[in-house]
Amino acid sequence: MIIIETQAVGPFFKNGFVVACDATRDAVLIDPGDEVAALLAFADERGLAIRHILLTHAHVDHVTGVAAAKRALGVPVHLHRDDLFIYDRAVEFGAMFGLRVEPQPPVDEFYTAGQTVRFGRYEARPHHTPGHCPGGVCLEVGEPGAPGKDLFVGDTLFAGSIGRTDLPGADHATLIASIRRVLFAFGDDARVYPGHGPATTIGHERRTNPFLQT
Ligand SMILES: [Zn+2]
Ligand SMILES: [Zn+2]
Repeated sequence: MIIIETQAVGPFFKNGFVVACDATRDAVLIDPGDEVAALLAFADERGLAIRHILLTHAHVDHVTGVAAAKRALGVPVHLHRDDLFIYDRAVEFGAMFGLRVEPQPPVDEFYTAGQTVRFGRYEARPHHTPGHCPGGVCLEVGEPGAPGKDLFVGDTLFAGSIGRTDLPGADHATLIASIRRVLFAFGDDARVYPGHGPATTIGHERRTNPFLQT
C-alpha cells in the first residue's frame, strides 16, 4: 500500500506531498514549500524515513521549503536541469512576491530519462513535461515493472485547467503537447495530483478538461 499525504498553506496554497511505502516506511517528499513543517511532522508521527526530496519544477511556491527539508533530512534534492536557472533565483522571485525566501541548497541530482528513484517497494519515475516551465516533470509513482497509478504533475495539469504559460521559458503549445504525449499516455484510472487544487484522474481530464478537447 502507498501512503499519500497532502498539505497546502497560504499564500500560494501549493500542494506538498509525502509519499511513502507503508510496508518499509521509506518515503519521498515532493515539492516542499511553506507547508514543509506539517509534512515533516506527518512523516515523524507515522515513523516514515524520507529518502529523497523530489521537485516537479522550480517555481518559488514549490521550493520555499527545500532548505528546511534539506537541513532536517540531509537527503538528496532532485530537479530537472532545465529549471536550474529558476531554482537559483528563488530569493529574487520570492522578493517579487514580497516574500523572504531562504537561498536554495544545491541540487544534488538532475533527473535523467529512464531514471527510477526507489523508496521501499515503490519507485518514482520522472518524465520531462516542459511547457509551464522548461524543466517541469511528471513524477510517476508505482511498483517496479508496472505502470504507475499515481502521477505528481506539478503545475502542468490541474483539475479542469492547465498550467499558466506567461512566465519565463513557458510555452502554451509545448505544454499542450507534453500533456497529450506524456500524461495522456497513462490509463484513465491513473490518479493525478496537481501542484494546486484537488486531485483528479487522467480519464476525467481527458474527457472534460476544456483546454484539452479538440
Ligand atoms: Zn509553477
Ligand atoms: Zn505552483
